[in-house]
Amino acid sequence: MRKKIVAGNWKLNKNKAESIELTSEIKEKIKGVLSTDSHEVILCPPFVHISNVVDLVKGSEGLKVGSQDCSLFEQGAYTGEVSAEILKSYNVSYAIIGHSERRNYFKEDGNVLSQKVTQAVKSQITPIFCCGELLNERESGSHFDIVQSQLEEGLFHLSETEIKNCVIAYEPVWAIGTGKTATPDEAQEMHKFIRGLVELKYGQEVANEFSVLYGGSCKPGNAKSLFNCLDIDGGLIGGASLNADDFVEIIKALGS
Ligand code: PEP
Repeated sequence: MRKKIVAGNWKLNKNKAESIELTSEIKEKIKGVLSTDSHEVILCPPFVHISNVVDLVKGSEGLKVGSQDCSLFEQGAYTGEVSAEILKSYNVSYAIIGHSERRNYFKEDGNVLSQKVTQAVKSQITPIFCCGELLNERESGSHFDIVQSQLEEGLFHLSETEIKNCVIAYEPVWAIGTGKTATPDEAQEMHKFIRGLVELKYGQEVANEFSVLYGGSCKPGNAKSLFNCLDIDGGLIGGASLNADDFVEIIKALGS
């Protein structure tokens, strides 16, 4: 089912007490805000907070927990890694995979990301697969090609049945944490292109039911104009997800 989604990527922020406080505040403030079962709000804290956050959101309709990554390995001697299977045992529902910070700082390429996606899907965790171009790639006009190859390399190895349980987040790298946002027209143009790629590969029915999120300096002030676009089904939120009031304002911008 095509869902309207707001996911908060906390990145490397919040200690134990702060993560509990933020989760509790969000839980309280979204009461009555998520009107239908086609709306979903996902909290993606650092790994170590996941257990607490899962316990805190238990029983809150439409509030789910995601991880910011998962291992490409299933199990074994891989020090420091956290597998999709372990995450699933903590009731994690989503995993962000291929965030530009992972691609940039940790050199994760399409080959690595495709394995992470496979692991997540195998454990029945929904990948939130991130794609997006650098500023120079947009300026040179290669942004559509870049996004297409990111999807082909990292996501489109999945079968039709598997892809139905995935979400794509379009995050132009030049807009992440910079205060620069893609205009609704720029974002809509790329989202339409992405949905078109899903359609070409998997057919119209899958494409129509697919959620594509926007990410990149999405704030209470611009969320509505972005979410109102035909092919934008919500947002992946970084900075503004660290403040309960801002995050809940963005959730409200999903509308009914
Ligand atoms: C992100 O990192 O996924 C993101 C969208 O960050 P920000 O909202 O801070 O630009």
